[in-house]
Amino acid sequence: MLVDLHVHTNRSSYCSGLSPQELIEKALRLGLDAVAVTEHSTHRGAQIAYEMAEGSGLVVFRGIEVYTDKGDMLVFGMSSRVGTDMDFEELYGMVRAEGGLIIAAHPTRGFWGHHRKYKGETPLEVLRRLDGMETHNGGCPPERNERAVELARELGIASVGGSDAHMHYSVGKCVTVLERFCRSEEELMEELRAGRCRGAYLEELEREPQPRVLPR
Ligand SMILES: [Zn+2]
Ligand SMILES: [Zn+2]
Repeated sequence: MLVDLHVHTNRSSYCSGLSPQELIEKALRLGLDAVAVTEHSTHRGAQIAYEMAEGSGLVVFRGIEVYTDKGDMLVFGMSSRVGTDMDFEELYGMVRAEGGLIIAAHPTRGFWGHHRKYKGETPLEVLRRLDGMETHNGGCPPERNERAVELARELGIASVGGSDAHMHYSVGKCVTVLERFCRSEEELMEELRAGRCRGAYLEELEREPQPRVLPR
């Protein structure tokens, strides 16, 4: 199953010029099975895309991306309200308390922490505690993604990929390959937790056709 695990739409990410409709059409055209809409600290846009995709054949997972002082985090399976710029430990505690999943977004890209202070890469001791890390982020240069792939291997952390698309042309640039077909966030979390996933460039997968998992 191919999932673009990191997308922003214009419904609640004001930095995005991608409408939910455009996202659904583009993802289906690319042959993706699913996308995860991960707006900054709100599920609103994801919920809109989720409802709009019903009956389209595309699965939409609802997540969020949260800015923290240890880097941006993708979170699934958490319904509590979160701040826009959070203390990592506070967010981590909330996610664990709710049985959610937390993944480092673009951990090797560098990020702006509290007070817009440049913080470099997400620290290794933080990565080790997470459920996975993006090794393929559509907004990162190839060498940063290569470094993330090496790090994930070294640390034994699940690798995922997502485009971080804010415009239609970026959708599907990077994807997560899942071994099993998932229809809900619960199933997705189970697969990611088990490490039955890997990040990839869609281009590479097209060059060497992958066995596709058929929907049930
Ligand atoms: Zn980010
Ligand atoms: Zn993002």
